[in-house]
Amino acid sequence: MNLPKPVQSIHNALGIPADYSDSCSLPFCEEPSQLVATERDFYDRPQQLTPESFAAWTAMKLAAANEQVDIFLISAYRSTQYQADLLAKKLGSGITIEEVLTVNAAPGFSEHHTGRAVDVGTYGCDALAEVFENTVAFQWLEENAAAFGFTMSYPRNNAYGIIYEPWHWCFSDN
Ligand SMILES: [Zn+2]
Repeated sequence: MNLPKPVQSIHNALGIPADYSDSCSLPFCEEPSQLVATERDFYDRPQQLTPESFAAWTAMKLAAANEQVDIFLISAYRSTQYQADLLAKKLGSGITIEEVLTVNAAPGFSEHHTGRAVDVGTYGCDALAEVFENTVAFQWLEENAAAFGFTMSYPRNNAYGIIYEPWHWCFSDN
């Protein structure tokens, strides 16, 4: 596929292989036209989601709290440029682009660009760690998230070739 020009120049600057968009099985993720501020995340950073995703996330968080289950935001919307900066930082620490791309999507291909994806945390569990799957919060999400429109995007052995991410959930209204 032909990437939008600004995304293509970001890819060129990072040395992302030209066949990335054809060889990776991730869809291109457009940025949303509208974002709203959410509560601050676990690290006290401002975050944004689309209005529908934020409403669904808030309803889900309250429902969980009603059952004494804590879930909180670790990360939500991330811009294409943010993803580019993240990758640049990793490259700066000496990791090759090929290695980076096994754990991070290339700019333009992170589901976080859509403003509908959230990384979820719970107290007493390391952030963005596979052990999240052993928490009460994860169990609750498995049982209840679908009712709020959230699905886990990257289960074990997913078709995208992305590592298992039990903490990453995406909202869809269809
Ligand atoms: Zn994520």
